[in-house]
Amino acid sequence: MECILLGTGTSQGIPVIGCKCPVCTSIDIRDSRLRVSCFIDDEESNQKILIDIGPDFRQQMLSNQISDIDAVLLTHEHNDHTAGLDDIRAINFLHNKNIPFYGLDRVITDIKNRFHYALSTNKYPGVPQIEMHTVEREIQLGSLKIIPIPIMHGTLPILGYRIKNFAYLTDASLITKESLEKLKDLDVLVINALRQKKHYSHFTLEEALIEIEKIRPKKTYLTHISHVFDTHENITKLLPDNVCVAYDGLRLSL
Ligand SMILES: [Zn+2]
Ligand SMILES: [Zn+2]
Ligand SMILES: [Zn+2]
Repeated sequence: MECILLGTGTSQGIPVIGCKCPVCTSIDIRDSRLRVSCFIDDEESNQKILIDIGPDFRQQMLSNQISDIDAVLLTHEHNDHTAGLDDIRAINFLHNKNIPFYGLDRVITDIKNRFHYALSTNKYPGVPQIEMHTVEREIQLGSLKIIPIPIMHGTLPILGYRIKNFAYLTDASLITKESLEKLKDLDVLVINALRQKKHYSHFTLEEALIEIEKIRPKKTYLTHISHVFDTHENITKLLPDNVCVAYDGLRLSL
């Protein structure tokens, strides 16, 4: 199984338009961050899965030379996780297939409202061909099992996902005991750490490190990073050995 972290930045991305801070003007390519998304290619089950489809989806497909997707898993409805949906048309046309989308019932309703033209009965030709599926329990895609991990994003219940010994949690500010149980024996965890200063709906670095200590994955990558956090190089100095800062285009073999 291979995983590509397609985007690792918070909702505005880095650089932020017009910002002249040291992170936004950094020449380290690891400090340029598109909006969060993750692509998983599981050879064993022959499934290609995208987690979230944000505003940078098109660019992420092009720069990573990805040309096929079998399913899209949505963590939640916020714009930085869903705004690229219309560009799924390229995959529809190329492979002549519909793409199933998975998410919480509330997220599906939100997508149906925002992209009503793709889901109405009287469709304009050429709109995205998608099928919406509510996640209630484990998702079975061919021989591949995906475990949804309920987490809290401020007051909003959202989902992370576990696939084999890999788990992807973004936009979390709380992980319940029950969900921690589902995160045992991980090889790789991707988890959000927005910045060092407290935020009402995202883990800070300190909070993320506390969760990592509880989950004890072999290796952890931090994502959903804000320009006010610091440069890749400086954040790295704050981290224990088995925790790394993710960057766009990072490929993980699992
Ligand atoms: Zn987000
Ligand atoms: Zn900045
Ligand atoms: Zn969010």
